[in-house]
Amino acid sequence: MKRVLVTGASRGIGRAVALRLAQEGFTVTLHYSRSKDLAEGLFEELKQIDDCSRLIAFDVCDREAVRSKLAEEVENVGAFYGIVANAGITRDTLFPAMKEEDWDSVIDTNLNSFFNVVQPLIMPMVRLRSRGRIIGISSLAGLVGNAGQVNYSAAKAGLIGACRSLAQELAGKGITVNCVAPGLIETDMTKGLPKDEILKHIPMKRFGTVEEVAGCVSYLMSDEAGYITGQTISLNGGML
Ligand code: NDP
Repeated sequence: MKRVLVTGASRGIGRAVALRLAQEGFTVTLHYSRSKDLAEGLFEELKQIDDCSRLIAFDVCDREAVRSKLAEEVENVGAFYGIVANAGITRDTLFPAMKEEDWDSVIDTNLNSFFNVVQPLIMPMVRLRSRGRIIGISSLAGLVGNAGQVNYSAAKAGLIGACRSLAQELAGKGITVNCVAPGLIETDMTKGLPKDEILKHIPMKRFGTVEEVAGCVSYLMSDEAGYITGQTISLNGGML
């Protein structure tokens, strides 16, 4: 059994990733924070696929809570084979108008969360001696930048840097560390954006789907992606 943790799996990309990985035969621990009903709905679906699926809740910014919940989870079901660090938020505004809390919450949720969630799980994963997979959900904004997203771009670029370095630390253990960097994907996060204006800048003239992102994560999680590490795959409809 290969157990995989997907953070932010209540909605959007995380939800699609969790479903896809369960369909591929991974045993999924679903994580959520505030969307309890949605997460419980997905949990019921996953249990139909694999009755060892699990559901946990914490705020990824609350380091102590994350550590104690994850320690409990490892104690109960053993080390994780894979982690998808997906939970994230945006607080977009031009930099001169950016409030301290917009900066702090975005860096905390998108970047510090990587330390909070992944760091306590590394040694149990190493001791498992069955290789492993860590996948960070970054963003095209972390690769090329985007006006109005100085906070978000910094966090997502930081995530790419963290994954590159961690990939080098863990390569000898057969644990790969990669990022997926989506462009614009149809989820709650992009709901309020001026779609018609944005489509003019996407060569494929459409937003991506959560299933397309999930397919990419599923490939990086697979055995056949075992020689790919420290890389970032961008799904962006030709924007880069
Ligand atoms: P959604 O807004 O649809 O979902 C965000 C998820 O993150 C939710 O499950 C939410 O959990 C969770 N989350 C947010 N804050 C916290 C927190 N403090 N603690 C725990 N969980 C939290 O976003 P998407 O699905 O669109 O985005 C998923 C990832 O993909 C993010 O990292 C995002 O930055 C990235 N991304 C998205 C793109 C897009 O176009 N949609 C493009 C590029 C990257 P809950 O609701 O339970 O609180």
